[in-house]
Amino acid sequence: MDIVVEHLTKRYGPQKAVDNVSFRVKAGEVLGFLGPNGAGKTTTMKAISCYINPDEGDVKVGGYSIKEHPEIIKKNIGYLPENNPLYQDMNIIDFLEFIAKIHGIPRYLIPERILDMVRICGLEGEKHKLISELSKGYQQRVGLAQALIHDPEILILDEPTTGLDPNQIVEIRELIKRIGKEKTVILSSHILAEVEATCDRILIINNGRIVVDGTAEELRKQAAGNEILKLGIQGGDVNDIFESLLNLETVDSVDFIDIDKQLFEVQSLKEETSVKPIFDLCVRNNYYISELTPTEKKLEDIFRQLTLH
Ligand code: ATP
Repeated sequence: MDIVVEHLTKRYGPQKAVDNVSFRVKAGEVLGFLGPNGAGKTTTMKAISCYINPDEGDVKVGGYSIKEHPEIIKKNIGYLPENNPLYQDMNIIDFLEFIAKIHGIPRYLIPERILDMVRICGLEGEKHKLISELSKGYQQRVGLAQALIHDPEILILDEPTTGLDPNQIVEIRELIKRIGKEKTVILSSHILAEVEATCDRILIINNGRIVVDGTAEELRKQAAGNEILKLGIQGGDVNDIFESLLNLETVDSVDFIDIDKQLFEVQSLKEETSVKPIFDLCVRNNYYISELTPTEKKLEDIFRQLTLH
């Protein structure tokens, strides 16, 4: 089932939480939905999951509109909301049974579905514990189990690793990756590395609008453009070298990476390379190059650049 978001707009009072957003997710894709706090991720995900009505635009899931057929869409979507609200005083099995009944899964199938979820989400050792007794990582597994129990084609996960420790984060990411092989997944996060590690495609949203849509590779290319060199120069005063680099005609900007080691980051102007001018500069001044490595712009920097207000 493809997801097609068409000109989605949602206002809260005068504020547009989501502003004319359109994108498409193909069946089987794992899409990372990235953006700073308040960008509009949760609002978009809630609209896709039929939890809020848009003011304008529509979402179609497998061709069905959220306005006309929310009941069909809900059957096909599993949703893990932000902060994963669970019934703390139920044990895992009872809780999953309760959710299965809400979804209308036939009674005779429920025990088998619960066992599947316990297996898939790695809950064997904990299944009789109360949810309040579980670690955050295990609570998140229960959140995934409740989202998957009706075997939806699509899984929508709102910041699934928030509040987890680094080991739990790795485990939940692995689990999501495994699930992602079988399902269409939209996962929101404000951590770029997370989205890069788990997703096929990245969508960056800022102030309710999509600012980037592509793979991590495309995103790098699009924003990189300019040559960036990590450069070490010895044999002269670090500030003189800095000034001389900045004065080269091909150079756009120079930064210190490490003043003591005389390491610089040199960014060239668009479609220029500064390698030869740097060599010439060193020859003229009797400097020597201790390091010269092209570097990729870090995705973190690109993200920051694209989402600065
Ligand atoms: P976060 O990463 O912090 O969860 P987000 O990208 O998910 O952020 P949304 O929760 O979609 O962002 O919120 C988008 C904007 O809409 C925010 O400015 C938020 O304050 C506002 N907003 C969201 N829900 C409501 C609501 N129920 N009432 C009023 N304003 C809201």
